[in-house]
Amino acid sequence: MRIVLLGAPGSGKGTQAEMLKTELKIPHISTGDLLRAAVKAGTPLGLKAKAVMDAGQLVSDDIVLGMLEERLAQPDARAGFILDGYPRNLAQCEALQQLLERLQQPVDVALQLVVPGELIVERLAGRAAEQGRKDDTPETVRERLRVYAEQTAPVAGYYEQQGRLTVLDGVGELREVYQRILSALPRRAA
Ligand code: ADP
Repeated sequence: MRIVLLGAPGSGKGTQAEMLKTELKIPHISTGDLLRAAVKAGTPLGLKAKAVMDAGQLVSDDIVLGMLEERLAQPDARAGFILDGYPRNLAQCEALQQLLERLQQPVDVALQLVVPGELIVERLAGRAAEQGRKDDTPETVRERLRVYAEQTAPVAGYYEQQGRLTVLDGVGELREVYQRILSALPRRAA
């Protein structure tokens, strides 16, 4: 199964994807994690991406696409994947569509986790305290939410037009939200 998870920063995509990957036995591919790994490893790509990420803006489409393409070429992704953090703008939607057409692995479903703005800000503040992620400072959080509203929110409309979008309430206990996700998955051929 090939799943795209959509939702604002702090909507719980990453946490839910981690739970889902065990159940479905498919990899969780987070472009944010891939970028943070490149930053940590100090690769040329990571050095380029770091300042952009710390400012809460989007890393350039070609860098992220190249990274994603490499990741999707790994054998474990042949069974399917849960994509988290990609696509993040309409150009990335088109790029993903083309890439997956080429691989003959179209997206089965896009799941959007909806969480109200006030709760998002609260959650990200909590995460800042716990994990100390550099892009969780109040100023950067504000910028990430602005970028999300401007560039990423339209991504849901892209999948809606294709009849592949399911919108889910992202408020509630982790387990509750997880159950909503499971019930929204297309039935797998037994
Ligand atoms: P969050 O879910 O909290 O937004 P992520 O871990 O998904 O955090 O992403 C962190 C940062 O990595 C983003 O703010 C952005 O700078 C960069 N990034 C991640 N995915 C993409 C993408 N698809 N395109 C461009 N930049 C990205």
